[in-house]
Amino acid sequence: MTTTPDRAPLIEALEVCDLATILPALAAATGDLSLLDPTLRPSDAMFAETEAGLSLDQAQQVRALAKRGLNQLLDHGPIGDLSREDLATIMCWLLPDRGVVEQYFDLFVHELGLADLRTPTWSVPAVAPGRTLSAIVIGAGMSGIVTAHRLLQAGLTVTVIEKDTEIGGTWFENTYPGCRVDVANHLYSYSFGTRENWTSYHSPQRDLLAYFRRVADECGVRPHVRLATTVTGCTWDETTAQWQVGLEGDRGHEVAVADVVVSCVGQLNHPRIPDLPGIDTFGGPQFHTARWNHEVDLSGARVGIVGTGSSALQVIPELAGTVAHLTVFERSPSWLAPALTYRQSVPEGLRLLFDTIPNAMGWLRLWLVWKNCEGLLALARVDDTFDGGGRSVSLMNEGFREILTAVLEAYLPGRPDLLRAMTPDYPPLARRIVPDDGSIPAALLRDDVALIHHGVTAVTPSGVVTDDGTHHDLDVIIWATGFHAQDFLLPMPVVGRGGLTLDATWDGEPAAHLGICVPGFPNLFFTYGPNTNIVINGSIIYFTELEVDWITKALHHLVATNASSLEARPEALERWVEYVDATNAKMAWGASSVMSWYKSASGRVTQNWGESLLAYYDITKTFDPSDYVVTPRTPA
Ligand code: NAP
Repeated sequence: MTTTPDRAPLIEALEVCDLATILPALAAATGDLSLLDPTLRPSDAMFAETEAGLSLDQAQQVRALAKRGLNQLLDHGPIGDLSREDLATIMCWLLPDRGVVEQYFDLFVHELGLADLRTPTWSVPAVAPGRTLSAIVIGAGMSGIVTAHRLLQAGLTVTVIEKDTEIGGTWFENTYPGCRVDVANHLYSYSFGTRENWTSYHSPQRDLLAYFRRVADECGVRPHVRLATTVTGCTWDETTAQWQVGLEGDRGHEVAVADVVVSCVGQLNHPRIPDLPGIDTFGGPQFHTARWNHEVDLSGARVGIVGTGSSALQVIPELAGTVAHLTVFERSPSWLAPALTYRQSVPEGLRLLFDTIPNAMGWLRLWLVWKNCEGLLALARVDDTFDGGGRSVSLMNEGFREILTAVLEAYLPGRPDLLRAMTPDYPPLARRIVPDDGSIPAALLRDDVALIHHGVTAVTPSGVVTDDGTHHDLDVIIWATGFHAQDFLLPMPVVGRGGLTLDATWDGEPAAHLGICVPGFPNLFFTYGPNTNIVINGSIIYFTELEVDWITKALHHLVATNASSLEARPEALERWVEYVDATNAKMAWGASSVMSWYKSASGRVTQNWGESLLAYYDITKTFDPSDYVVTPRTPA
């Protein structure tokens, strides 16, 4: 065997390989299953003390085997498709047991990227020659891009309406310092298209924006997008069985017509600034994190940031030390979870291995789907026999609380005051957990940063007043106070059958069958709709892809049965709501009384999914016409 010039850096790169997935990736690429030494299987424990739970000696053994596999690959090239049995054997080595592999096999194949199982297998012209089906997709962010892609594949006429001046949605709008994805990026990406060889484990906003733009171009979506155009309202026209969609943009006001409307506006697109007394009297600049004002020079300013959710906690470490003084107003703390790779770049060597070993990133993704998604659900599940006094919901959840508290304690030596203020009194996973590599406590320990453990109740010309009556002098206020999550499609009126408005139908309690369809609103579909948000288990892209897959199946039914419209039956929605409520009640976010953007004013969990990824996969795998009113087309 001769050593090619490129071989040495690759062998060297094994020092930084992903220890959990390098052997499965090489076994799949070479077909050499003997690489899968049963004594070197990784641990799926959340905070394993060593990488992948392997000892140093085991790690060296993994690298030695990987060197063998890599040489085989470089000598002979990849083997091509594996048999189902071999694939399952490799999965079984990586994942807990054969039962899991058998149950999840199809889902895993898709996530691995071995086949794009969600490409529609039909198209409008093929199923109904001569018929056209038009769709307006509202929003050109992560959901809008995949929706347009799939609908185009299914032969629909697609127009994407985007209010912003660029594609990208949340990753276009949120430009605040420190903005990055809090989910592992090898998971937070589409299952289809060219895999991105990410330079960061949790990419900053600009990289994500570039990724979504690239996919939009690669899938041919961009020519179908109308930028800088706002949807002003949607009205169902009974006579034509079409949606009339009001648009405001460079062509002035117009009404577009479409057979189908898909909302891809997300849950977190409408910034919420609390309506506090005196808010308009403040003398300095004030803005929301999602509308960051880059014109304002913060250096030398006394800056106040209101809120301690995910957004605020990304901003705080960036501002600390760059402004004259930073005051953080915390009404209630967020749980922080250790994430050491949070701000780290992916080592060049690892990226080189990803470029060289076919589908190595797919195997990492599969591992993350298991370890960071389904594997974590148990931490949030309520044990009815366990009394955690409102602080935890099960023994496991209590153990998790202890780990998170111990980590925080280690970051805050000699500061019991900060430890008290930063330790939530509600169970971990009752709200979104914030990944941290120590930067957040380090920022709050600085002399020029103050954590005020009080809510803001009023604004004055020179600062804010907290609920203990104290006035805080500020030059700039940053509102990190979240979004109008309950108000999907805000502020556009949506009028369905018989003049029914979506606002009135929901009355503050959004609900949709499968999170996708609302009775009385024919051919209107939601992505990232009610009860499809996830707290711990996974990436929202996964849900969106499944929703779009289901929507294309529903549309296939519509076209194949020569129907004009379909809409969820009220009784189907009722059953669905009972189901999601029952599942959420068994999870930390539903059982805890703590308020969050996951809940409506009444306390009902309107945003979250309370079951496994697999459950939603199974539910959305088929379109069940018995849950839907399907209206035939009237003959022309
Ligand atoms: P959020 O979680 O709703 O947090 C809003 C914060 O504002 C809370 O701490 C809230 O306090 C506080 N607040 C509201 N009114 C206040 C007042 N008058 N005085 C003091 N504090 C006040 O919003 P967010 O941080 O923007 O995050 C929303 C969601 O966006 C996250 O859960 C996550 O899903 C997503 N997100 C993701 C990323 C990412 O992936 N990179 C980044 C940011 C956000 P209370 O808790 O007491 O209500």
